[in-house]
Amino acid sequence: MSASSERSSAASSPSSPPSSPASADTPWYSAGIAFSCAQCGNCCSGAPGYVWVTLQEAGQIADALSLKLSDFTRRYTRRVGSRLSLIELKGGDCVFLVRTPDGLTNCKVHDVRPVQCRTWPFWQSNLSSPKAWERAGRGCPGMNHGRIHPLPTIRTCLSANADLPL
Ligand code: SF4
Repeated sequence: MSASSERSSAASSPSSPPSSPASADTPWYSAGIAFSCAQCGNCCSGAPGYVWVTLQEAGQIADALSLKLSDFTRRYTRRVGSRLSLIELKGGDCVFLVRTPDGLTNCKVHDVRPVQCRTWPFWQSNLSSPKAWERAGRGCPGMNHGRIHPLPTIRTCLSANADLPL
């Protein structure tokens, strides 16, 4: 699992993001960005990394799995400094990644997934420049395709994940 993407690795090459002069008020993505998940699973597998989960999020996932919080954290998380991260299976799949026979993937806890996953790919590291976005898009075939996410939505994501080291 990669620290620099919801999870990451190679994939197809999306088209280039729009390029325009950037400022705090009008960032390069101010006209919105296309993204629709293709369920390839790249972001939830691959190289080791982190899926940060707060105690509140851990509680929500534990509830969804009908587990006590202490059982959930022991079984599905590891401590990294002062934070918790979901564990990975051998081979790098997120512990909650489900691979389906049709070659696609699902998340076993999709409805209660952490903010990190919920806000992908709208992370500061990806949005810092068109180049950074393009780089991230090499591992995510959903980027620059599908539904246009307007600036307010992107800003909501950035503000939701602002405390995370993404
Ligand atoms: S399309 Fe992107 S967000 Fe969806 S599973 Fe693949 S890498 Fe993850």
